[in-house]
Amino acid sequence: MNTIIYNKIKTDEPLDREDIKYILGSSNTKDLFDIAYEIKSKFVKQKVYFRGIVEFSNYCKKDCYYCGIRKGNSGTKRFQMMSEEIIETADWAYKNKYGSIVLQSGEREDKTFIDFIEHTILGIKEISNGELGITLSLGEQDYEVYKKWFFAGAHRYLLRIETSNKDLYSKIHPPDHSFDKRIGCIKSLQEIGYQVGTGVMIGLPNQTIDDLVNDLFFFKDIDIDMIGMGPYLNSENTPMSNDSVQPLWNNEEVYVLSLKMIALARILLKDINIASTTALQALKPFGREMGLKAGANIIMPNITPVEYREDYQLYDDKPCIDEEKELCLGCLDSRISGVDEVIGYGEWGDSPHFINR
Ligand code: SAH
Ligand code: SF4
Repeated sequence: MNTIIYNKIKTDEPLDREDIKYILGSSNTKDLFDIAYEIKSKFVKQKVYFRGIVEFSNYCKKDCYYCGIRKGNSGTKRFQMMSEEIIETADWAYKNKYGSIVLQSGEREDKTFIDFIEHTILGIKEISNGELGITLSLGEQDYEVYKKWFFAGAHRYLLRIETSNKDLYSKIHPPDHSFDKRIGCIKSLQEIGYQVGTGVMIGLPNQTIDDLVNDLFFFKDIDIDMIGMGPYLNSENTPMSNDSVQPLWNNEEVYVLSLKMIALARILLKDINIASTTALQALKPFGREMGLKAGANIIMPNITPVEYREDYQLYDDKPCIDEEKELCLGCLDSRISGVDEVIGYGEWGDSPHFINR
């Protein structure tokens, strides 16, 4: 790495746009990952926290151009797990010492759904004596709905901005999806008291290196507690799959860029939680472990019952769709000790940034 930039990072001098652009374009990743790992070890330790993710329904009222479960995708067989089934899955996570779970689904805003989620959160809190942390990833909702779920016991929320470039956002969504509304939702969640995570997709058609630089500054400016970002992956039968504009980078380049984005997020934001996402593993079998080496500290093992996994494919070739959660656990344990990290079993592993904020 360029010594001036290296010294800036070492002495904690702020990096400017040009420094970040240089790093994203540079082929020397080793120094970058090493220094990001050093910062990670100092601020959040060499510890990984598990968030077992339950992808409990693929009904969605939105039509994001990149997503396999978008409303317009008539080839997708729709499913919704029952509340008891979700609570049972959460109970498995609790008994296996996962500190927290993530409930994720397509977006719905009807009253039945809102009450269903509240009921499910209360049920999970009850079976785990309030000990299992609950993160929600249920899209854009009204302020009062976010509040209702927060008071029921959810304490973290993931809502990716997808890209911080408003023009690009409008290219990858239908006209009735609003960038400003999404920002407003992130701010509402912060105001209510959630730990809030956001993120972007990397390698979108029409996305540039400047966009990625802006994404990193966006995370900093909005003062986020958690980041979950990863490669954009093709999903057959979506409008973007047939886009005439090809992304600037091939899969190998997107993989490396995604790791660099993790490292830079760690260098710039220091004490936040950063997830090493499944989408990274979709590009490289050991992509998630590499994410940990580049500065991430969270892994979200899929604990959805196997019978539903095939129908929750946001993108093609999603890994582990036929692997039972019990097998996943054994496999993850050895994969993580293989990269010299400790698993924070039974701990919430809250973002120190949130605690310090
Ligand atoms: N409906 C909720 C949560 C489910 S989608 C929401 O949209 O917030 C969760 C994330 O999956 C999205 O934020 C998006 O970043 C990601 N995603 C969807 N399609 C994808 C694709 N083709 N490649 C990579 N990530 C994708
Ligand atoms: Fe629905 Fe989320 Fe997919 Fe958009 S990204 S179509 S909101 S599930």
